[in-house]
Amino acid sequence: MQANEEEKVTMVKCILCKKKAIQGLNILGSFICHECERRIVALNVADEGYDYYIEQLKLIWHRS
Ligand SMILES: [Zn+2]
Repeated sequence: MQANEEEKVTMVKCILCKKKAIQGLNILGSFICHECERRIVALNVADEGYDYYIEQLKLIWHRS
C-alpha cells in the first residue's frame, strides 16, 4: 500500500457483518472487517455462525 492511500480514511462495508469499518481484509475485492476476520480464524464447525460465514466466503471465491 502506498503512503497516500493510507492517509485516506475510507469506510468500507464488511460483506459478513454489513458494518462499516476502516480497517480490514480485502479478498478479491470484497471487504472483511477485523472483527469478522478474527471470527473466521477462530471459527469452529460447531459454531452457530459457521455455515453463514462459509457461505459468504464461497460467494467471494466464486465472484471474480
Ligand atoms: Zn465484519
